[in-house]
This record gives sequence, structure tokens and C-alpha cells, in this order.
Amino acid sequence: MRLTFFGAARSVTGSMHALEVGGVTVLLECGLFQGRRAEAAERNRRFPFPPREIAAVLLSHAHIDHSGNLPGLVRAGFRGTIHATEATVDLAEVMLRDSGHIQESDAEFLRRTRGERVEPLYTVEDVERTLPRFAGRPYGAWFPVGPGVRARFHDAGHILGSASVEMEASEPPRSVRIVFTGDLGRRGLPILRDPSPLPPADVLLTESTYGDRLHPPLPDLERDLAEILSGCARAGGKIVVPAFSVGRTQNLLYVLHRLYQRGEVPRIPIYVDSPLSTRATRVVASHPEIFDAETRAILGSSGSPFYFREVRYLESKEESMGLNGAPGPMLILSASGMCETGRILHHLRHALPDPRNLVLFVGFQAEHTLGRRLLEGASFARVLGADVPVRARVVSMEGWSAHADREELLAALAPRASGAQVAFVVHGEERAALALAGGLRDAGFRRVEVPSRGEAFRL
Ligand SMILES: [Zn+2]
Repeated sequence: MRLTFFGAARSVTGSMHALEVGGVTVLLECGLFQGRRAEAAERNRRFPFPPREIAAVLLSHAHIDHSGNLPGLVRAGFRGTIHATEATVDLAEVMLRDSGHIQESDAEFLRRTRGERVEPLYTVEDVERTLPRFAGRPYGAWFPVGPGVRARFHDAGHILGSASVEMEASEPPRSVRIVFTGDLGRRGLPILRDPSPLPPADVLLTESTYGDRLHPPLPDLERDLAEILSGCARAGGKIVVPAFSVGRTQNLLYVLHRLYQRGEVPRIPIYVDSPLSTRATRVVASHPEIFDAETRAILGSSGSPFYFREVRYLESKEESMGLNGAPGPMLILSASGMCETGRILHHLRHALPDPRNLVLFVGFQAEHTLGRRLLEGASFARVLGADVPVRARVVSMEGWSAHADREELLAALAPRASGAQVAFVVHGEERAALALAGGLRDAGFRRVEVPSRGEAFRL
């Protein structure tokens, strides 16, 4: 029995781990590697194993860094089943189609601007051939994955449908319980149920995104948002929120709905201006069976936290551009979350020069992105080819993170310290992964490994 770490090893993107048991190989995640263009193209195109020999994929959740190279895998010959929770299957459909379009238009852009003959990593057609390979599984129910391997999903409380994966692998006379955290969420996140306790494991794989950091507590965010809304209404300004389409957008709508219902803030109009966010919100709204009790109660009493009077979902480019000259106050939720592409760019271009406006970041801003430059206090920003003065206020509320922080990770993992033979720390920048590994050793884990890419371990 062997476990090999092919991606998200001492890094956070391109999650991919392989379990070999009794002659079959099962893949855990098949994420898109995102980084410098040449390296990303190379890594995403070349699988370190023959894809047609993979028996099945277990997918923890729909985020692209976990699911985004599934169409590439199918394009390269994979013919097995992709197991995921039912909500993840629905979200993955929306996200992979979007990713297929992006792959095609990126390749087209390079052809047009540089004359390079570039094949897309995969096409929308590859995505359509991938979708029928998904099998939706309810939380908590065992299902067969291959000879000698079965698995079940537990709620990870990270995004809709997210799961920790419990596997039982037998090579008689041995049987090994392997638990992979997936991306672990947090207690008290809007809409989602709290993460289920991790089941006992012989072998543990844990994410470590925030393995060296702590988040501010959640209630402050609600108060801060109320203050921002009131200020914006007084000044007649615009609040522009670059937000990831899945998770953050719905969380924000939920909190806005709650503030509006309680009458604590002026009910300014809200525009959701991203086709992907609109589709993702539709999927989220269609899975009330996995909402937490509080959200189900709201649905029963004061209506949908995603579709209320002040919210409008914009479809066409014209509607979107129409907001540029429209007077505030208003709140615009648009993508992409790090301000690299998408409709958010023209909103920023028009909003940044006006001191009445405010740009609100609710997610992590990676290095070398426009979002990061704005957060770091740039006085001018290059947006859509123009140098724009930054006079709008720029505010960050990173505590909206859907990832457990160091303390929450350790609290979830510590009860498994005495039973586990080994814990592998993955899905974190090196510093975060090593910091969490130290914490796990202090918590009593006998053996903790921080694998490098390509490293294999006999179980
Ligand atoms: Zn995630």
C-alpha cells in the first residue's frame, strides 16, 4: 500500500494525491495547478502516471484547485468514476464549464496576441465528457471505490458540499483507515453546518492553509459591515466587493440579508454582477437539505437569504456597464475575487478615483495581483490599460475565510493524535505546513510528515 503526493505538497494549488492498494490506484483530488504560465502548462498537461490506469477519483469539494484538472484527466484517458457529494457534483458542473471556457479563451488569446499555437489545456467538450463520470454520494454513507477500497464523506463545513474523506483500504490481512481533511471549514460560518468531527484514522492527511495564522472572530465582521454600509449610505458612495463566486458571495448575501432584516442598516441596493456567481448561488439555494439549522429557520420565516428585494442579479454586459454612471449608494458584488479578470475591473476603474467609494476585500489576495496592490496601499492602479488614482477607501475583512485557522485545525486534529500512526501535512505554503506539523507533534502525534512533491510513502 502506497501513498504519493503529486500536488499541494508544500504549496496550496493543484491538489493531487494517489493511493495504491491491491493493484489499483485511487486519486484523491485532481486540482488545477495555478502559477507561472509555463510551469502551470507543463504541470497541468503532464500527469505523473498513466491516467487510464486510475480506477477512481475521490473529490473533497468543487474549488478549482481541487477539481479543476478533472477534464484534463479525462482528456488524457481516464475512464473511471469521480466520487463526490451530491452538492459538489452540482457545483463542479458550474465551475468546470466556466473553467473550460476560460481554458479555451486563454489559448485563443495567446494565438491572437502572440501568434503562438497553443492547445487549450482542455475544452468545454472535455468538460461535457467529464460530467457523466461523476457519482453523487450522500454524506455519511459508505460506497465502493474499487477492489478492497471503500469510502464515505463527512461534512467539512468549508463550502457547500465540501467533505472530509474517510477511506478503508484492505490488503488482507491488513486494513488501513485513511482520513483526508479536504479543506476544513470553521464553526459558525454562515449557511453551512459546522465541520463534522474527524473519524478515527491510522493515516491522516490534513490541509494546512492557515497552519501558522489565526483569524479574527466572526461577530466583529458583521459589526464592521454594518458600519461600512451606513457610511456608504451617508456619503452616497459605492461599495465594490471583489468576491469569489462560490462561498464568499453567498456568505456575504446571507449577512446582508440578516442586517437588512434586523433593520440595523440602510437597505441599499445590492448588485450581484458575475454570471458564475449567479449560477453558483442558484446551486447553493437548491441544496437547503445541507444548510445549518439557523439558515433553514430563516428560509422558513423571512424568506431566502439569496433572493430578497434589494438584490439584483445582472446578466448582460450592458446591465453591468450601466452601473458605472449610476449614482450611489449601492453595493456591487463582482468577480474575480483577486481583481485579475472579469467585470470587477470596470467597476474598480470607475470607483477607485472617487473618495466616497469603498473597495471591500473579503478574501485572500495573492502576491502579484491587483487586489494585493490595492490592499498594500497603491496610490495609482493600472486597470484595463488605464492608470487610475486610488482615492476610494480600501478595506479588508479577511476573517471571512472559509478555512480553519491554526487553532481550529489543531482542535479538530488533536483528538486523533493517539490513534494515528502518521499524519501527513499538505495544502499549505511551506511555512504554514511546517508550523502546523510542529503543532501536531506538540499535540502528541507520534510521526508527522510534510511531504514534498512526488514523495511516496509505504503504509
Ligand atoms: Zn477550498
